[in-house]
Amino acid sequence: MQINISLEGEEIKKETEVISSQEKKIVPESELRQDIVTGDWVVIATGRAKRPEDFSKAEYSTHKLSDDKDNDDCLFCDPVKSGQEKDILIYSRNDNQWTLRVFPNKYPAFSRGRVPKPLEEGPYFAMTGTGYHEIIVTRDHDKHLPDLETIEIAEVFDAFQDRYLDLMKKKSVNYITIFHNFGKEAGASIAHPHSQLIAIPVVSPYIKQELDGAELYFKSLRKCVYCEMMEYEIKRKARVISENDEFIAFCPFASRSAFEIWVMPKKHNPYFERITDEEKVQLAEVFKDALSSIKRTVNNPPYNFYIHTSPCDGKDYRHYHWHIEILPRTSTWAGFELETGIEISMIQPEVAAKALQDSLK
Ligand SMILES: [Zn+2]
Ligand SMILES: [Zn+2]
Ligand SMILES: [Zn+2]
Repeated sequence: MQINISLEGEEIKKETEVISSQEKKIVPESELRQDIVTGDWVVIATGRAKRPEDFSKAEYSTHKLSDDKDNDDCLFCDPVKSGQEKDILIYSRNDNQWTLRVFPNKYPAFSRGRVPKPLEEGPYFAMTGTGYHEIIVTRDHDKHLPDLETIEIAEVFDAFQDRYLDLMKKKSVNYITIFHNFGKEAGASIAHPHSQLIAIPVVSPYIKQELDGAELYFKSLRKCVYCEMMEYEIKRKARVISENDEFIAFCPFASRSAFEIWVMPKKHNPYFERITDEEKVQLAEVFKDALSSIKRTVNNPPYNFYIHTSPCDGKDYRHYHWHIEILPRTSTWAGFELETGIEISMIQPEVAAKALQDSLK
């Protein structure tokens, strides 16, 4: 059974379940819970509700991915036929064939709503997991990002920007994360190429660390730490994979994973959403090189990439510099990595960069 609640002019459907013949209970919304010691946030996403017995039935080692070869039943090849919600954004060619579409995630980690409600329990603090979770899909089932034309990749960045500009205006949204999972080891549960956007009320701990680090660096050395890094990499050349007038791709000095690449605008800019049309094409060029070099050098490994950009909470982030981090999944995090947060990378970033450079020749 479903009830409809109207918030901010949007209709939100919530599943309900019957707990007795008289009483009906709404499945709780997602919750953002804060770690009382570190201040870090976790999300308890009950929209994908699981009972303890579901975990014991799960086959962890054979996590299923929709078959790459058989795309007849692919949810994303025909989102309308498969019952996805209405498109939020759709790009089409002259012949009316769609090339890219954006729609709400059927199983969102966050629930749409106006403002997050505080939830307290004893010494703990939490809030409702208010937010937006959208899927960005390119048309071709078998063509992943590095296989697309530069202009098609630019279109993907254009869609990211379009949705960002819309969602940043929402009251409940303070941070927007845009990411992409490729391959089941990287968390992709549907083979069809897609990226995701999640707009949330809190800033992620990892971004917070980068924002604080960039501000501290600026205060002591009067310089953007990312501009500093980039100038050195351009001079030294050893870790640079690709560059043009506006963008650069390089293996970071302290790479967290083998063949990790960062893509950065050469001009100082804290805000991804301010990218121009010309810059989107230049970004697509360098980004395609980065992904293609990983695909060729490491035999098409699973990877994640995400955009790191300033929060949209109205505060001043002039010391930050937006960028994309691409992390090939060349190893699994084990006890040491999870406990310390220090990843063991099996190759020197300089050696990895040389191989990546050679693959583009
Ligand atoms: Zn498909
Ligand atoms: Zn900078
Ligand atoms: Zn970053």
